[in-house]
Amino acid sequence: MSARVLVVDDILPNVRLLEAKLACEYYDVITAVSGQEALDKVANENPDIVLLDIMMPGMDGFEVCSRIKSNPDTAHIPVVMVTALTDIQDKVRGLEVGADDFLSKPINDIALMARVRSLARLKMALDEWRIRENAATQFGVVTEKTNLMQEPIEGARILLIEDKEYDKDKIIEALSADLNIVMSAPGGIKAMEMVAAQDFDVLMVSLNLKNEDGLRLCSHLRSNERTRSLPIVMIADEKDMTRVAHGMEIGAYDYLMRPLEKSEVIARVRTQVRRRRFQERLRSSYEISLSMALTDSLTGLYNRRYLEVHLDKLIESNKQSKKALAVLIMDIDNFKIINDTHGHNAGDEVLRVFSDRVKNNTRSFDLVARYGGEEFVVILPDVSPERAYMIAERLRRSIGDTPITCSVEAGSLEITTSIGGAIIESGDHDIGEVIGRADKCLYEAKNSGRNCTIFEGKGLISKEDYQEIERAVYTQDLEEFGG
Ligand code: GH3
Ligand code: MG
Ligand code: MG
Repeated sequence: MSARVLVVDDILPNVRLLEAKLACEYYDVITAVSGQEALDKVANENPDIVLLDIMMPGMDGFEVCSRIKSNPDTAHIPVVMVTALTDIQDKVRGLEVGADDFLSKPINDIALMARVRSLARLKMALDEWRIRENAATQFGVVTEKTNLMQEPIEGARILLIEDKEYDKDKIIEALSADLNIVMSAPGGIKAMEMVAAQDFDVLMVSLNLKNEDGLRLCSHLRSNERTRSLPIVMIADEKDMTRVAHGMEIGAYDYLMRPLEKSEVIARVRTQVRRRRFQERLRSSYEISLSMALTDSLTGLYNRRYLEVHLDKLIESNKQSKKALAVLIMDIDNFKIINDTHGHNAGDEVLRVFSDRVKNNTRSFDLVARYGGEEFVVILPDVSPERAYMIAERLRRSIGDTPITCSVEAGSLEITTSIGGAIIESGDHDIGEVIGRADKCLYEAKNSGRNCTIFEGKGLISKEDYQEIERAVYTQDLEEFGG
């Protein structure tokens, strides 16, 4: 995985040192020697990770980080503060302006690579969701732009797996004071029971458990269906750095070193909660906008855009399979009068019931779409002309023969629909042309007094025709099923 890393430091030899280390691991490195230059490169050169010095003349690292994180276009880029400062308050301040992690100078190579690799992975996942979110937005649905730093951080459910009483109490106290719900387990067996029964937002795992290997537990949590996407924060001793690096390798997101400092525990868990919620929001906004982009909210049917894409694909595949399909257009008769007499809400109710009936009288693989206000298109793939006539006429009757229950004084309304249809044989056709042919028949149906079905090449389907058609379809079925 080749990620692009932006190294920011006002002292050139520091830049060169990090550049050399990262280049050795095949990262693509870009550099900046001031806060302003860093912001310019973040805006223009798409880094995947920023390694940011804190102490710089002019704009310092806190300010740079805060600006990256408050811009919705760049907030998702992970920032690692690189610092000689050991003051815990500085660390916490960095995490509060949105830094994703800290590295202290002199830089430990294992920690550096573990960090960079894990953050590059995270960035890739976020990028994927952002791309989908963008695509969904381009479908024409306006989605609110998600912003990492605005995610709420309260009320997270945290599972702590730790058997050292002192540290356990300290973590519970700190995180509970930060309005989270913390539960604890002394080991893996109890933890697996708990994750099976409840939902958590963050898992914290000690690497120094007395009776089991915390790393193995991390790996187990990574592969478990219920926990594989949850952030894991490891808790370790200073001497465990190699195991911590291994943990990051297998997918833990972060670590805390003993002795634990409450404000750092809070800040790191906040970062994980924020990230997780951000990712969840991207995912759900993508799913919602996708379904909004493809379906009609009033009736739940597919919309015109989906129909066009789908029909295009069907026509294309029919060219190869040499199958025929039928296109029906249905338009409710005198619908304007219903709205004018009973109000728009009653009109909406009629549209919903109408849609349900059409759905219920078609086959599962037929496509029903709302094409316009009170116009619907039904696509019947792989049908004989007779079956298409029969289905169309059955649809017309399913509407006209039974009054539609809705909230009007009489309790129901008598509605009729006109239907135009065309059979599309395999060959070259474009969607506009195909729908136009059915639409022409619909126009004829309206002119023939409404409440009727007219097919291209067949004309009006009369009562007598319908009986004959039913017989023909019945015979076809018998032949097909060898009866
Ligand atoms: P025709 O038999 O010739 O089809 O007459 P019509 O009155 O059905 O046709 P027209 O196209 O004149 O009117 C369609 C009406 O459908 C006009 C519009 O206000 C109404 N309409 C379109 N979309 C909706 C909707 O979502 N809800 C409601 N209640 N009415 C709608
Ligand atoms: Mg109409
Ligand atoms: Mg109309």
